[in-house]
Amino acid sequence: MNNSKINKIGVLTSGGDAPGMNAAIRSVVRSCIYNNVIPVGIHKGYKGLVRKDFETMQSHSVSKIIQLGGTILKSSRLPEFATDKMLRKMAIDNLKEDMIDALVVIGGDGSFRGADLLSDEFGFPIVGIPGTIDNDIFGTDFTIGFDTATNTAVEAIDKIRDTADSHNHLFFVEVMGRDAGFIATYTAIATGAEATVIPEVPATIESICSYMQTERRKDKTSGIVIVSEGSQLGSAQEIAEKVKERLPEYKTRVTTLGHIQRGGSPSTRDRVLASMLGNYAVNALIEGKSGVMVGITGGKVSYTPFKEACSKHNPIDLDMLTIAKILSI
Ligand code: ADP
Repeated sequence: MNNSKINKIGVLTSGGDAPGMNAAIRSVVRSCIYNNVIPVGIHKGYKGLVRKDFETMQSHSVSKIIQLGGTILKSSRLPEFATDKMLRKMAIDNLKEDMIDALVVIGGDGSFRGADLLSDEFGFPIVGIPGTIDNDIFGTDFTIGFDTATNTAVEAIDKIRDTADSHNHLFFVEVMGRDAGFIATYTAIATGAEATVIPEVPATIESICSYMQTERRKDKTSGIVIVSEGSQLGSAQEIAEKVKERLPEYKTRVTTLGHIQRGGSPSTRDRVLASMLGNYAVNALIEGKSGVMVGITGGKVSYTPFKEACSKHNPIDLDMLTIAKILSI
């Protein structure tokens, strides 16, 4: 616990962008101002820390950004940050030179690994906010961006269903999520997909084929298989080709939704989550907390050490997959 007075807080967004990051920046900036702390925006993530690309923020600096996707502070990737301690020292020296007392890092697990090193090596106060569409961070029920990304995927798949139905097609739709099947599982339930392939649950081409061929399914006029990008069976394209080899009578099509899932105006849920977490992060730093990520777990604010947030994963609720299966008979 560090109880020295915090006068200036830096905020940056790092790694993969996610809708709702702007709402989080806005919340951090305005919560600082409310607490008589000067907010400083750091451009382009850790690159901006190293290059000292800083900007003192005012309340109006974050006007009308709550509804914007992306991040006004920009994001970047700086792989050398993991290996080069001199870079990390430059980052801390730059913060100290500008009299910044603490830092808020908005990002995913990679960004938190960087934040963990900075706080361990230099004792610098840092609090993280989970911003990633993948929902793959331990210590929060939902990450900022997940809800919007899932809504985008659902909207796209509803449209794919229309065309699939018109032509009796079997569509394989690949969604994002890295090693986690959250986007796939939620999307599958919400679109009534016929099958779901996620990294956490082993599947075989045979199991997908036999599943598609049950009596009830044969009467269906279209089929949608949601494939999570981290699937152990390969990409949606590879799975579709293997299924087609075994079931040549099916007219298969493949769509990879890709980066549209990262963009767009954040949903209400993501705006609210980001607004809450931004405020909790500033309060946590003022209270002397450091080396932790703020999250919301079971409806309550939670603080998870960076190491735990990066190394553990929230398990997929297997009930959800069972229910998706039952409802798509
Ligand atoms: P995300 O935060 O979305 O998971 P990345 O994995 O790309 O995105 O990480 C963002 C940045 O965080 C990297 O470009 C790098 O600068 C930093 N970073 C990632 N992993 C580490 C690590 N192990 N140690 C220190 N910094 C890291």
